[in-house]
Amino acid sequence: MLRTHQQATFAAMIITCTNCQHKTDHPENRAFTEEDSKTPCAVCGHTVKSIEISIDDSLLVKEDVMIKKIDPKLPSKKKVLSTTQSGDEYHRNSGTWQERTRIIDRENNLYYEKIENKEINFSKEVSEKLTDHQGHGSAKKK
Ligand SMILES: [Zn+2]
Repeated sequence: MLRTHQQATFAAMIITCTNCQHKTDHPENRAFTEEDSKTPCAVCGHTVKSIEISIDDSLLVKEDVMIKKIDPKLPSKKKVLSTTQSGDEYHRNSGTWQERTRIIDRENNLYYEKIENKEINFSKEVSEKLTDHQGHGSAKKK
């Protein structure tokens, strides 16, 4: 079931300035560092940026996109303003692939999750205040 699929996996990272929408491609073979998160926009000097990471796995016909909005001026725990994740997720219990979107938006206090599994006819949509969501046992972290 589980394969090593390094060669077929393609990952791209695009950094977008949240002020002027200027886009920069991050070099594929280099990790995104603390220094990168602090680098101001080359056009307007703004430091709040959104980072889009997309993973394309041709062997597994799998796609995953993650967008993080980062304000490097905030302390590390509060730096990530929002995270949007969407893509294919493996559902262990049924052995099928499902589409999943998850948004954690601290700026607007929003938690959104949508799961759609066509193979087993399952769908679920949750939209609630992030503070309410974090109040539920399992998501609680200290
Ligand atoms: Zn800019």
